[in-house]
Amino acid sequence: MSKKMTIDGNTAASHVAYAFSEVAAIYPITPSSPMAEVADEWSAAGRVNMFGQKLRLAEMQSEAGAAGAVHGSLCAGALTTTYTASQGLLLMIPNMYKIAGELLPTVFHVSARALAAHALNIFGDHSDVMACRQTGFAMIASNSVQEVMDLALVSHLSTLKAKVPFLHFFDGFRTSHEVSKIDAIDYDEMKSLVDMKDIEDFRSRALNPEHPVQKGTAQNADIYFQNRETANKYYEDTPAIVQEMMDKVAALTGRKYHLFDYVGAPDAENVTVVMGSGADAIEETINKMNKEGHKVGVLKVRLYRPFAADAFIAALPKSVKKLAVLDRTKEPGSLGEPLYLDVCSALLEKGMANIKVVGGRYGLGSKEFNPSMIYAVYKNLEQSEPKNHFTVGIYDDITNSSLDFSEQYNAAPAGTISCKFYGLGSDGTVGANKNSIKIIGDHTDMFAQGYFFYDSKKSGGITVSHLRFGKTPIQSSYLIDAADFIACHNPSYVTRYDMVSDLKEGGKFLLNAPWTTVEELDKNLPAKVKNAIAKKHAELYVIDAISIAGKLGLGGRTNTILQSAFFLINEDIMPYADARDFMKKMAYKSFAKKGDAVVNMNYAAIDSAEANLVKVDYPAAWATVAEGAPMMEVRGTEYYKDTVHPILVLEGDKLPASKFSADGTVPTGTTQYEKRGVAVKIPKWIADKCIQCNQCSFVCPHAAIRPAVNAVGADKPASYETKPMTGLAGYEFRMQVSPLDCMGCGVCANICPSKEKALEMVPFASLVEEENVNYEYSKTLPETDLSKFKKETVKGSQFCQPLFEFSGACAGCGETPYVKVITQLFGDRMVVANATGCSSIYGGSAPTCPYTKNKAGHGPAWANSLFEDNAEFG
Ligand code: SF4
Ligand code: SF4
Repeated sequence: MSKKMTIDGNTAASHVAYAFSEVAAIYPITPSSPMAEVADEWSAAGRVNMFGQKLRLAEMQSEAGAAGAVHGSLCAGALTTTYTASQGLLLMIPNMYKIAGELLPTVFHVSARALAAHALNIFGDHSDVMACRQTGFAMIASNSVQEVMDLALVSHLSTLKAKVPFLHFFDGFRTSHEVSKIDAIDYDEMKSLVDMKDIEDFRSRALNPEHPVQKGTAQNADIYFQNRETANKYYEDTPAIVQEMMDKVAALTGRKYHLFDYVGAPDAENVTVVMGSGADAIEETINKMNKEGHKVGVLKVRLYRPFAADAFIAALPKSVKKLAVLDRTKEPGSLGEPLYLDVCSALLEKGMANIKVVGGRYGLGSKEFNPSMIYAVYKNLEQSEPKNHFTVGIYDDITNSSLDFSEQYNAAPAGTISCKFYGLGSDGTVGANKNSIKIIGDHTDMFAQGYFFYDSKKSGGITVSHLRFGKTPIQSSYLIDAADFIACHNPSYVTRYDMVSDLKEGGKFLLNAPWTTVEELDKNLPAKVKNAIAKKHAELYVIDAISIAGKLGLGGRTNTILQSAFFLINEDIMPYADARDFMKKMAYKSFAKKGDAVVNMNYAAIDSAEANLVKVDYPAAWATVAEGAPMMEVRGTEYYKDTVHPILVLEGDKLPASKFSADGTVPTGTTQYEKRGVAVKIPKWIADKCIQCNQCSFVCPHAAIRPAVNAVGADKPASYETKPMTGLAGYEFRMQVSPLDCMGCGVCANICPSKEKALEMVPFASLVEEENVNYEYSKTLPETDLSKFKKETVKGSQFCQPLFEFSGACAGCGETPYVKVITQLFGDRMVVANATGCSSIYGGSAPTCPYTKNKAGHGPAWANSLFEDNAEFG
């Protein structure tokens, strides 16, 4: 009987790679890093591969070095692997030619990712792997976590037999980070499929002084060309070898794969050709379309290189008249993207040019690819002259390439339970949801899928977890837009994000908030939210997890309480009593090392849900009510309102191409309008204790607390307390916090050197309104000549305007105060060449820019090149 595992795609790939490898030479890059991390952990824990050896893992100085080490290790006869993505993979290309040229068997596992072009993007597409199609590596695509397990095995078995190296890829984040319940293959089963003669043959070709040979010579015009052609037969043999290995895996697992797998109506006229996770979403969509009377199909490409044209033609239904070839990459200036060109060539060479072929781009940088978009692709094929070189999933109002996908098409099979959770980065929501998937996946007969969306803040940003559970395997490789259950883990989100519109009729909405009565909810929920809840006849639940966590001593860790509330509300997934026991077992496993007190605290958090969850009996009048809390006010430039704000409220997908500059350039100074308001506590200034040293301002990582100076007698708000300015007669001093930009780290209060602290951290809600008025007033104060306070001093520097403010860095970041003070000293004449890393993310993540301008319009100009070349770039 097969063993079930609830794991992500990276772990599935690493599980297989570990079995077959003696050496892994690596360099970490998102989203492939977890493959190396788990392999490192397994090795440290003494896990052995199928030959009874521990993996030797070596981290090199770059991906170029990793590929060089793989090449050397293979030459020495060690079974070797690596894991990479994006421009990291591109750094390996020079060595990939060498490895393939020398017919060295290996598998590179790639969580395929977009390439940095006009902007960096860490998410999934095929731009990186497509840049390797000419290296001589065979290429196999996996479309789901299960396929990663199965086709990683096919890749390792095939490379040993074929001698051609393999690149096994799957979609970054969508598959690499999707948690899914799959059938695992253990190492003894894998070993039973290995032909040991293949391994002996590999070892016999290793460099060895006992039977020395020379490799990698320099050849001239007389012999290089014909020698290059000698490897042809290995590539000709590879497709059959891959099919043989697919058959072996099928015999073991029952899961059948072919070089190309056709799914759909046997008499389909309109067919798509695709590889990667989009294939599953297409299969799910066409299953529904065919039931409705359409005759459509999809051809999934498993082995992309060598491209087996005969197998491709054989897999197509005889009835096909039109093909839409979907590429998840862009090759500017080409006649078409790579898979489209391959399909055109195959049809032409095989005398089948009568089939109409169009090509389209989709899903770049993890752009959503859902059933409505897929439906639009088939609708396009139904036209007598379908659009060619189209895009789908965006609105291209510049070159008009995009297909209209406004017709909603829901393809998720009945019976799947879809759940969405809105959390705050680092609040534990994602971790708790991963636990829930494991509990449900491991202890029910349901299939489970989890996918996690993060924004680009280092912490304190929004996370949206998408969880699905169902009795049949889940093929929905796209975000949930019709949920049975939605949880809002942060009360401030109700006035920021449109969460309820994705709730199904009769769905369940859980809110973590202090408002547990109808009266309180009436006042604090916007009218739009109340209307949607009532019109959908939703069940509304509230729990004040923040107060409960505070009372239990858990601080801001509300995740366990909310996880327990989720299970309590969703007993149709599993009985709550069982879920509670499993949660407690997990809590024990996680916290036993920290002692009984911590374990008991978490037990109490789990138990608290039953007593504190409130089901709200809201009035039917909510359906039409017009009063309620106002939605967040949007202030800023036109660019901010039209382009930045929609992205911040998760509506960036709706922005048309014309909103963006062609070269990716964006205005600076936009974090000032963001007003995140995420601090739990903010500093309250106690004037009579302050010694005006400005140290608090100096250390603030977010430039959220600044000295403000006004002339004596200025017309101030009543709450704007000041004290006489030391060293400047006729002026007054105040230390002013921007409450909505403060992250609540407390660093300012900690550093305050006053005998009795002049800053006290107080609850956000108790001070925000008053301090916001004061902060807005402080911004209107006229400039004062403070040149007598030397700007080279701690105190004097803080009277200069920071030209780096309110970044997305973590609360309490130790790096950003230095960046800030540099801009205070030199910012109006600074050009920054920012190395890739934390500072390029908090300093340059769309949509807002923390570098800003002074009143003259001068400020830092900023750019980032690549991880490996910043010194040269700058
Ligand atoms: S709490 Fe942190 S972010 Fe807020 S003002 Fe103080 S140092 Fe700045
Ligand atoms: S660190 Fe304390 S004493 Fe110094 S300026 Fe800030 S609040 Fe005043």
